[in-house]
Amino acid sequence: MADLICYNQHDHGEYLSSGRTIDYAETIFLTKGHPFYSNRSNIMFAMVEDTVGRHDFLLTPCSAEMFRIIYGHRDPHPGCHGNLCKALEPYGIKPDQIPTTFNIFMRVDIDGNSGKVSVLPPTSKAGDYVIIEARMDLLIGLTACSAEMSNNYSFKPIAYQLMGN
Ligand SMILES: [Zn+2]
Repeated sequence: MADLICYNQHDHGEYLSSGRTIDYAETIFLTKGHPFYSNRSNIMFAMVEDTVGRHDFLLTPCSAEMFRIIYGHRDPHPGCHGNLCKALEPYGIKPDQIPTTFNIFMRVDIDGNSGKVSVLPPTSKAGDYVIIEARMDLLIGLTACSAEMSNNYSFKPIAYQLMGN
């Protein structure tokens, strides 16, 4: 799975908002056809193709702190948050400016009665993909996640392609 975050390329104070996107879509299961909104309620991108139909937009990117707290690792790896920090730092993005990421292929189940949140192995298989179409100029961060549970204990590369027109 892959964590995605984006910012308005011309104003990094505008970023992808999980809360607004879920609110306007009236679902936590975002897929083909859904617009993804910024903290300022502008559409940042739309998902136009999705061969899986199941992603997560509730959980923050995995981080060294998360590996310590949930998995009990003593010497945790940087995780998606650490990798995003490193990748976005040259563009002036600070660690505290990285909010909830859109977690492509991540499968999170919610028990509608108890509210219990469970991270399950993704249903995606090799070759599955999503296509998102930018609706503004974007600065994008994308990871290949290294959290055990979210990837069914098997880590694979994530491919991406930029298409212009
Ligand atoms: Zn991760």
